[in-house]
Amino acid sequence: MKAAVYKGNHRFEIAQIPTPEPGPSQVLVKVHSCGICGTDVHAVMYEIAPPGTVLGHEFSGTITKTGGKVSRWKVGDRVVGGGGEPPAESENASRNHPRYNYRTMGFQGGRTRAYAEYVLMEEWEPISLPDGVPDDYASLTEPCAVAVHAVRCSGLKLGDTVGILGAGPIGLFCLQAARAAGASRVLISEPAPARAKAAAALHADAVLDPTKEDVTERMVEMTDGRGPDVVFDCAGIKGTLDQAMTTVRRSGQVVLVAVPWEPLPVLPVDWMAREIRFQSSWGSGPGDWKIALGLMKSGQISMKPLLAESSFIPLESIEKAFTALMKPSIQLQVVVRP
Ligand SMILES: [Zn+2]
Repeated sequence: MKAAVYKGNHRFEIAQIPTPEPGPSQVLVKVHSCGICGTDVHAVMYEIAPPGTVLGHEFSGTITKTGGKVSRWKVGDRVVGGGGEPPAESENASRNHPRYNYRTMGFQGGRTRAYAEYVLMEEWEPISLPDGVPDDYASLTEPCAVAVHAVRCSGLKLGDTVGILGAGPIGLFCLQAARAAGASRVLISEPAPARAKAAAALHADAVLDPTKEDVTERMVEMTDGRGPDVVFDCAGIKGTLDQAMTTVRRSGQVVLVAVPWEPLPVLPVDWMAREIRFQSSWGSGPGDWKIALGLMKSGQISMKPLLAESSFIPLESIEKAFTALMKPSIQLQVVVRP
């Protein structure tokens, strides 16, 4: 099968590698489409992925082969490549290790993932793709589940006002998940025009350009001088965490959703007197994937403004796409169709 193999030094090679054969409790999934995720970009950018790795974890596909002991799937079933409830012995360290550190313990090597024509999975790993959710949309279930998880981690209450810093895919899903959870108004800050446009298309109540206006001042003004009840940092770049703290209301909550790999400057004296609560949110759990698919099916979460025909690229364009995404990105979602 054809795969995009990471060669180190920010290079990929399109190579023919053996198509895996499912063991007794495994299934083979033909990949329909696979999103490029910020964590993949970081794995390449910070050289966490060892050469020889095939990345890609945000995918949808069809079961094409099942192992002899597999009973829950049959050939032709449409699936999302994740979201299954792991048996205790397969539980991911990020969910149960008492001192988990993503930077030093996060990369799970040795596994061929979905920047390839086929991917091998344990039978418990995928979840069923409901009718009415197209395969291309389904490949974004994982980032959508991350936003669902972030909103569920937050203390968001019916009627709250929400601020979101950064309208990349996760920020745009947070916007929709916060709405579904009962936010009365969602105010967005995003400098990139394509992303700001998508936020407006998803009916954000305000889309501010942080290069042109003072986001804190504007969000405070729009909330009668108080600041939003909950602020999600979906950018995680220099300045946004401090900005979230500065913007949120007294006793409000800041939720860090983005994963910053660099130290971030904060100036606590500016905001600590307002007794702000901080919550970090990490990835998603199986329940979040099912909620995400439910929201996608009911139309409460739309993928449409995130995807254009130009969002889809062949395997051959992966290196170019990663090179672009390693710079501060202005694009929306990129999806590989192997
Ligand atoms: Zn991801």
